[in-house]
Amino acid sequence: NVGLVEPDKKVDSVCPYCGVGCQLTYNIKDNKILYVEGRDGPANQKRLCVKGRYGFDYAHHPHRLTKPLIRRADAPKRGDFVMDPNNVMEVFREATWEEALDLAGGKLKQIRDQYGKKALAGFGSAKGSNEEAYLFQKLVRTGFGSNNVDHCTRLCHASSVAALLEGIGSGAVSNPVMDVMKSEVVIVIGANPVVNHPVAATWIKNATKAGTKLIVMDPRRSDIARNAHRYLQFKPDTDVAMLNAIMHVIVKEGLVNKEFVESRTIGYEELEKNIEAYSPEKMAPVCGIDADTLRYVARLYATSKASMILWGMGVSQHVHGTDNARCLIALSLMTGQIGRPGTGLHPLRGQNNVQGASDAGLIPMMYPDYQHVSDPKVRATFEKAWGVQPGTLDDKPGLTVVEVMHAIKEGKIRGMYVQGENPAMSDPDAGHAREAMASLDHLVVQDIFLTETAYLADVILPAGAFPEKTGTFTNTDRIVQMGRQAINPPGDAKQDLWIIQEIGKRLGLDWDYKHVSEVFDEMRHTMPSIAGITWDRLEREDAVTYPCVKEGDPGDPVVFVDDFPRESGRARFVPADIIPANERPDTEYPMVLITGRQLEHWHTGSMTRRASVLDALEPDPVALIHPLDLAEMGGKPGEVITIESRRGKVTLYARADDGSPRGAIFVPFAYYEAAINKLTNPALDPVGKIPEFKYCAIRVTVGGE
Ligand code: SF4
Repeated sequence: NVGLVEPDKKVDSVCPYCGVGCQLTYNIKDNKILYVEGRDGPANQKRLCVKGRYGFDYAHHPHRLTKPLIRRADAPKRGDFVMDPNNVMEVFREATWEEALDLAGGKLKQIRDQYGKKALAGFGSAKGSNEEAYLFQKLVRTGFGSNNVDHCTRLCHASSVAALLEGIGSGAVSNPVMDVMKSEVVIVIGANPVVNHPVAATWIKNATKAGTKLIVMDPRRSDIARNAHRYLQFKPDTDVAMLNAIMHVIVKEGLVNKEFVESRTIGYEELEKNIEAYSPEKMAPVCGIDADTLRYVARLYATSKASMILWGMGVSQHVHGTDNARCLIALSLMTGQIGRPGTGLHPLRGQNNVQGASDAGLIPMMYPDYQHVSDPKVRATFEKAWGVQPGTLDDKPGLTVVEVMHAIKEGKIRGMYVQGENPAMSDPDAGHAREAMASLDHLVVQDIFLTETAYLADVILPAGAFPEKTGTFTNTDRIVQMGRQAINPPGDAKQDLWIIQEIGKRLGLDWDYKHVSEVFDEMRHTMPSIAGITWDRLEREDAVTYPCVKEGDPGDPVVFVDDFPRESGRARFVPADIIPANERPDTEYPMVLITGRQLEHWHTGSMTRRASVLDALEPDPVALIHPLDLAEMGGKPGEVITIESRRGKVTLYARADDGSPRGAIFVPFAYYEAAINKLTNPALDPVGKIPEFKYCAIRVTVGGE
């Protein structure tokens, strides 16, 4: 029907879904998006995947929140969770903005004054703009008075970022995805880019067609393995064993880049000593990859002119996620495969602005630009920049996402402000998270739909959807891009930046940002990495890569060319040993659950399940299981199965998938009617504080309610 209705305007923006950051154009008529086209952006060159192209009409869905809502005094108990957008008025009543904001902000202030600064916490959003993330963390730090601020980066790449900051001094990628075209060898480990970063996957496939050798390492055989030169289906949870064995070969066969190690790194001797015990022969039965293949891959990676590693949450979402990433960093350092085009380390970032939200300080231990809260000089700088009294900013790291839920249960956190996140679906052991949030004295949720989290709220503030606001977004390649408002919010819904500012005023903050560009300008004056990027330049060019320290700098797509941003300028090796998953299968729960995403749906599904084309493609919750496992339990594809862990139970449809490893089952977490995170294990990586979403013990039976 595209030809039948002509748009009355075209607005250039970016995709609201994944970290690839495809540029697109919204075609609008009468405040409605008619269709979306890909633009010639640096990450997509006019390409879009199914989500970017068809996942836009959620913005016009009748479930959109259009008025502020206040929980009725006689509403059902908050723990009695029955998600039904059609009977919302039995639980909530409409309110004016004035009344809702006064209640939302006033009660937060009351809790702060009565119980202390650490009795409050805030979750911001990786789907909001950089400016929203920056303002939200500033509100928590100056309005609440603590560092209890976090967002979903804690659930995706927190362990990768921890290892990268420790090892090479920067939590972002060293090279853009597009650099795979310049690589001789590319390793993709624990990532399913065809599903989760589809346009990035097209560049990887193009590279293999041009001769790049792709090594895919993953317990699940995903579609990208079809393009692989070698596919290593290692046993779930054995990353460290396999990677240490590969490094062992590199050492024993004299393939270490000694010049690079001596001139650019520290700590090599410790690493070498540690991997002595990890011979391929010993590790082959542990990881399930034969010694010859481990040797072949080690030689290929180490001796190529340019080798690059890309990884996803299969690496990071383990109790040993930081160790997994440490091994990948060590592999690149010992071979000198970093600091040049076509080399380096690329943790594929999930949400469209998870890189930017982390950069902007939406994390409990760092101010913007990863400046640690415990550093007195850093605090003094921010106290001056933010106009607060010297000595008032908290010097202790705040609580992370899962720690906040425990603190609520312990009575330490009594009030929360959640902007655009859905922990009732995305947190591990989601039943526990829901109970915790339901027990709060005061919960304020700001969102575009009545999410599972919003259902538990005391006050719901209706926000603007992605195409309804202007702001900047930073993709997985460190490219800051301009997203522009294409349509107006429905009803009385307001843009997030306005709402955050109004809540800030109720907490006593004297803010008066008239335009989003004023927030960006303040950011660049507190964040050296983007100091050279001006709003005008972004308006003109749409995309600028950081680091961009001075105005006019072109930006650096490839970093660590001469040194690493650590005190000594040298990168650091950190050895890792095998730590088993927190919860292993046993006779009672004999299988393993792996959770993740699918192509058509995004995260907790609140947007994509309300996008008509995407919902039509994948309407029901499914579990991917090896056909032989399914047959052994007497089931057939399409039948209902029940999955149960020590924490919960869900019923959903079985889908045969011979890429799944035997004994493991994969379930996307997008479906509220089969909320798989009720089953997942909240055990945390001790460094990155990321939960173990990729491994817990379950039992599966055919049938169910
Ligand atoms: Fe959007 Fe990612 Fe798809 Fe690009 S690849 S269109 S950014 S979801």
